[in-house]
Amino acid sequence: MMIGVLAVQGAFIEHIQALRALGAPCIELRQKADVEQELTGLVLPGGESTVQGKLLRDLDMYAALKEKIQQGLPVLATCAGMILLAEHLSNDDKVHFATMPITVKRNAYGRQLGSFHTQADFAGLGSVPMTFIRAPYIESAGAGVKVLAEVDGRIVAARYGDQLALAFHPELDLDKSMAIHKYFLAMCEK
Ligand code: GLN
Repeated sequence: MMIGVLAVQGAFIEHIQALRALGAPCIELRQKADVEQELTGLVLPGGESTVQGKLLRDLDMYAALKEKIQQGLPVLATCAGMILLAEHLSNDDKVHFATMPITVKRNAYGRQLGSFHTQADFAGLGSVPMTFIRAPYIESAGAGVKVLAEVDGRIVAARYGDQLALAFHPELDLDKSMAIHKYFLAMCEK
């Protein structure tokens, strides 16, 4: 078991803390050589998707990671990470990995509602805490995408094969059950 956590920008440390607390070894992915290692799972953290997308290309990590995702490497993508996976962005022309057939709206809650905390049902896990920070949401999901959670009628979590995309930040609720990180590790153990 080795979980690669993209560590070019954003909230990657919190994911590493959560995964290590659950006993999963992690490595930070900072350069091409890191990506070429054997991985059992991949975390794409929150942050700024435009910056992450640029750094992925500048650091020559983009193609190798995209190939691993397409080959079925389990992915936990939060917030900006979800934007990286989306095949379409409704308010941005530039897509990144584009491996998940979802249309995502960036900064979808507007400025004032950009950050909020709530609690909502997540398929199979019951009620989980959800922290949103300048969050996107999924406007529409294509064939084969399973919706896992909605808040106010908007899709905030979905799964497509082994790609798990969340609009919120489970790594910021570490005092809680870490239910979503456990769910992801179960995907990696299969
Ligand atoms: N607003 C960010 C973006 O568009 C995502 C915010 C986040 O990851 N917390 O990339």
